[in-house]
Amino acid sequence: MTPPLVNSAAARDIANVLHPYTDLKVHQEVGPMVISRGEGVRVFDENGKGYIESVAGLWCASLGFSNERLVQAAAAQMRKLPFYHAFTAKSHEPVIDLAEMLIQRAPVPMSKVFFANSGSEANDTAIKMVWYFNNAVGRPQKKKIIGRVKGYHGITLAAASLTGLPANHRSFDVPLAGFVHTMAPHYYHGALPGETEDEFATRCADELEKLILAEGPDTVAAMWAEPILGAGGVIVPPPGYYEKIQAVLKKYDVLFVADEVICGFWRTGNYWGSGTMNMKPDILTCAKALSSSYLPISAVMVNERVFQGLSEESHKIGTFGHGYTYSGHPVPAAVAIETLKIYDETHIGDHVRAVGPVLQSEMRRRFADHPLVGEVRGVGLIGAVELVADKATHANFDPALKIGPRLVKLCEANGVIGRALPGDALAFSPPLIISADEVNEMLDGVGRALDELTVQLRREQISVVS
Ligand code: PMP
Repeated sequence: MTPPLVNSAAARDIANVLHPYTDLKVHQEVGPMVISRGEGVRVFDENGKGYIESVAGLWCASLGFSNERLVQAAAAQMRKLPFYHAFTAKSHEPVIDLAEMLIQRAPVPMSKVFFANSGSEANDTAIKMVWYFNNAVGRPQKKKIIGRVKGYHGITLAAASLTGLPANHRSFDVPLAGFVHTMAPHYYHGALPGETEDEFATRCADELEKLILAEGPDTVAAMWAEPILGAGGVIVPPPGYYEKIQAVLKKYDVLFVADEVICGFWRTGNYWGSGTMNMKPDILTCAKALSSSYLPISAVMVNERVFQGLSEESHKIGTFGHGYTYSGHPVPAAVAIETLKIYDETHIGDHVRAVGPVLQSEMRRRFADHPLVGEVRGVGLIGAVELVADKATHANFDPALKIGPRLVKLCEANGVIGRALPGDALAFSPPLIISADEVNEMLDGVGRALDELTVQLRREQISVVS
């Protein structure tokens, strides 16, 4: 790799920017990939080379990278009222309209909406709400929160504690006390020999019940679940899993929180992942596609029971002492309103239901039998192709080999920006507006990258058992 030129954007990046999710030391040598503009499902680097964005940035730019209506919505709101807040009973039309739209579209009856700026903040807020609620209803000892191994809920202190991925815990001194994790619902890696999907789902629920009993049911407040686990590997739980899980939670009066930060807004072919996976949450968090990520905004929806608890407690104390300066900021709220209108007017759900099956069938047709591929999985417009060292045992490559990141680099050379997840799964979560032709073009690029990687690994005598 040639060192970046002095005074180039890359050199100034190296000198000044501390990057999230990056090996900070390697970055000082290698430098950034500078993205300069976007159009449709593509972004272009500083040299003008175009790439299909196979994960919509971070699973989020649902309407692609050049939606003019969203630009106009932001500009119009900036001119009218560029900022106002929602503290101390102040309000404005964008926050009122957006809350109403979300309540109307909720997967189960919801009562109220609280706004934040990111998925992490939405989950952090929901954790605090769960604690506040249990104080309100006179069970101050019922506070523990259950996440899942491989679950991802963000990186603020509490959200990172809930997340079940080692890189988010190591050296950050989390998880905090009171956060526990139950097993990942991943049949491909988690099933015992001869176990059916249904038996596996039952065992997941049994494990959850054992955990609740071991911790003490009167100390367990809530369980969080992404309908389909995203950053942990695009893991689609087996049929029946959520029915069994929710029965256990109900038995011990444990609140259920759906983290719809990735799955919300048609990603899985229904408005919410909760609809696709038959989840009936008490609280729902969402972000990303809420505004097509053109501006930061997230939301927490709570049902009437939870709201009543929050209401009583706030009245006792005199205020609900929680809120961000930018909770319900009018400009991102206006962009979110426009985004939801575009979803409705363009029937984006019908589009996902037409194009999603192309992604799912083409991923499987092209890659399921590839020598490097262990499992191809997904629903709607979310999917993953997992690379394994041994197709019979499902053993992953040694993480030190960095197979996933190598594949991502080869994808980039082939005109596709991809994202490697832990366990060498290449994720797909393209903008929802992607066409069938663009899906095929994206998979053509990934296919070339996979073949090039296979040749390289053979040359390096890295053993692949297929
Ligand atoms: N929850 C889920 C399911 C996510 O995928 C993410 C981000 N990828 C988050 C929460 C955190 O969102 P943010 O990065 O906006 O804080």
